[in-house]
Amino acid sequence: MCEAMRICGNPSSVHAEGRRARATVERARETVAAAVGAPAAAVTFTSGGTEANNLAIVGPGVERLLVSSIEHASVLEPARRSGKELTLLEVDARGVVDTEALDAELSSGRGSALVSVMLANNETGAIQPARKIAEIAHRHGALAHADAVQAVGKIKVDFADLGVDLMSLSAHKVGGPTGVGALVARNDLNLDPLAVGGGQEFRRRAGTENVVGIAGFAGAIEAATREREPFATRMAALRDRLERAVDAMRPGTHFFAKGAERLPNTTCVAFPGFGADLLLMTLDLEGVAVSSGSACSSGKVSPSHVLTAMGVDAETSRAALRVSFGWDSKDDDVDIFLGALRKALSRLDRRAAA
Ligand code: PLP
Repeated sequence: MCEAMRICGNPSSVHAEGRRARATVERARETVAAAVGAPAAAVTFTSGGTEANNLAIVGPGVERLLVSSIEHASVLEPARRSGKELTLLEVDARGVVDTEALDAELSSGRGSALVSVMLANNETGAIQPARKIAEIAHRHGALAHADAVQAVGKIKVDFADLGVDLMSLSAHKVGGPTGVGALVARNDLNLDPLAVGGGQEFRRRAGTENVVGIAGFAGAIEAATREREPFATRMAALRDRLERAVDAMRPGTHFFAKGAERLPNTTCVAFPGFGADLLLMTLDLEGVAVSSGSACSSGKVSPSHVLTAMGVDAETSRAALRVSFGWDSKDDDVDIFLGALRKALSRLDRRAAA
């Protein structure tokens, strides 16, 4: 990124500085493509996962959208606003999409269709059967999109092997800079751009490329995919240790999606009777950063749509905490978390008893 910052050219300019910028972008395109098993020409750089998802939903211009009920808002919202026929696909209690229901939905409908199911859920870490979903979609002549934002660097992600037509990526989920990502899309697919007024990115996304961000994205995804296996093994061991210790500390603690195949770095846990937001703030005071499973908008905390889709009641959903590990997390961090949690729970116990 530091090297890219020294280039003052615009990648679309023909002079030498412009060509240097172009070379940086094209090298990065090849690196990102290679990291996810796609041809370079399939990669369209975007401002992040949100834009990639919006383009994937709106760009193909299909008549019907079949979207899982646990998708990120950047898939659900454009699907709702598109005015197209929209079917929300159900998930089971583990948070995994029902592929038989998808098959039945596609059999009963008419018109061109796009199926969008994420590769791994951002709240529970539950991994979805993306390859099977793509097979079913193609059998019915539909397109398949997978939001792989959370999956890259944690599980194997291979565009060709998954057989999807479109796939979304985000740099900051693999340790890269914020505000950059990509839509990987079959090059023979016609995509209506969201941003127009320039021929950049194979006419799929107008606007001067974020050369520095793109260079950082390439560096990060290359490192994250190269180090993926040892990282995943280490994270899963830390996560399992944390879950066992939490269970011993508070028997009856609920771990969501535990019966499903999950990302190695995430656990979503509820301590019934303890609102997640209060627990989150108490842990924050102890220097531990976790997230609540619920979405907070204009001060009103509503239960997570993901947990609701899994059949979780509103009270348990409001108690859900998401704990994630990073590339450099260690056993010491688990100890710190457990110490802070013990303190936070007993403080809240005392409050409840008073
Ligand atoms: N998709 C998933 C599954 C996510 O978790 C996120 C962000 O958290 C996004 C899409 C949006 O990505 P970005 O933050 O790059 O816009």
